[in-house]
Amino acid sequence: MRGQVWGPPPRGTVWVEPIAQGGTQVAEPSDEMTPFEAVTFIFHEVADQLGLDDATRAVLSGTYREIRVQIPLQRDDGSVTPFWGYRVQHNGARGPYKGGVRYHPHADLDEVRALASLMTWKTALVDVPFGGAKGGVQVDPAELSMREMERLTRRYMAQVSYIVGVYRDIMAPDVNTNAQTMAWMMDAYGQRSGHTPAIVTGKPVALGGSLGREAATGRGAVMITDEAVRDLGRSPGDLTMAIQGFGNVGSWTARLAAESGYRVVAVSDVRGGIVDEKGLDVQAVAAHVREAGSVVGFEGAEPLDNSELLELGVDILVPAALGGVITSANADRIAAKLVVEAANGPVTPLADRILVDRGVTVQPDILANAGGVTVSYFEWTQNIQQFSWTEERVNTELGTHMRSAYAQVRDRAASQGTDLRHAAFAIAVDRVATAAHLRGYV
Ligand code: NAD
Repeated sequence: MRGQVWGPPPRGTVWVEPIAQGGTQVAEPSDEMTPFEAVTFIFHEVADQLGLDDATRAVLSGTYREIRVQIPLQRDDGSVTPFWGYRVQHNGARGPYKGGVRYHPHADLDEVRALASLMTWKTALVDVPFGGAKGGVQVDPAELSMREMERLTRRYMAQVSYIVGVYRDIMAPDVNTNAQTMAWMMDAYGQRSGHTPAIVTGKPVALGGSLGREAATGRGAVMITDEAVRDLGRSPGDLTMAIQGFGNVGSWTARLAAESGYRVVAVSDVRGGIVDEKGLDVQAVAAHVREAGSVVGFEGAEPLDNSELLELGVDILVPAALGGVITSANADRIAAKLVVEAANGPVTPLADRILVDRGVTVQPDILANAGGVTVSYFEWTQNIQQFSWTEERVNTELGTHMRSAYAQVRDRAASQGTDLRHAAFAIAVDRVATAAHLRGYV
């Protein structure tokens, strides 16, 4: 298994020229920045603070490997539609590349690069022995049947399979992918390499997935929220919460936050949102979503749209859907005093400055949503050892990682006089730079 590479690239593979070595430094942030420019901007701000030399900056801000593959999908009606698939390996100094795969019409190379880079900093921050990667297929899954999703997934895995591996690059679910997607990926890989559960994480438990993985990102986000609330001298029972996105991350955040005593007053998905000042019965909302496919139409709650949800007069706002939803256009109107970034990149760098200047506490994505990759690490180790942990052990160890990372970020922010995002990046960049230097990259 170790070090296995499968023959030449399959037909249809295009090697994409990596971004100009060491993503360029931009002087001032703007809402027009692409997702990768936004992550690179934060990186360079932190590199300035750390006094990182030019060579190290160039190596850490650029990506290691990027591929674009053509995925010709045979449709149910016999026709063929080609889609683009991407896999970007950002940095592997600290371990095998690790990151999810997103199916979305906007999943282009720039977005995948940004998400891969965030994974490098996230794995370093929570100190799991992985590098950073991300994958994407530029497709609207709503237009595909289940059989088409399966064929697309198997073909994507086959096309990128020669650059992944248990000790090379391990995939996981992200937007519009789930445990079933991972099962197909594992099976497609296994058809050529033999049974290899550790090739993906976020699998169904019946196929070697970890207990607690499905809830892990939401659980981690609630753990970070709990810590932040305690440091603010407040308690969950006094606080209201609004959550954008009701997929894997949003729905688990809602469920676990409600269990912890927060009053979840609003949730939303791509079709719209719902609000009830008295607090939503989150279990009932989840049951409604299973029936209706959306939170919209949940009885007893008022409708609201996604932009209204972001500006609602709540104590805690949890963006848990897509990136770039809080910009300079709405940052002034965010009423919450605590923003917990369960999604990746929901706040643009310009909006981030506005929120910080207004005294809003922003728990950054690389900390707030790191619970998923942390339990993915537990799943990977369980697969390699062929030994399963109890859910209690998974959740306890998740808590240890999350609380430790939270405390390190809080203390670094206090000692350096920076906001939490810059503190989190500083810890992560320090660790990756150390690994890169020790390996002799620079
Ligand atoms: P998902 O596909 O399970 O859910 C996405 C949710 O967002 C759905 O409810 C969808 O309807 C909603 N949504 C989509 N477009 C929207 C829009 N324009 N406005 C409002 N809502 C919209 O995906 P997920 O796995 O829950 O991922 C959500 C976010 O969390 C992403 O940013 C992802 O990168 C991040 N994340 C996920 C994990 C994980 O373990 N799945 C880990 C870390 C970070």
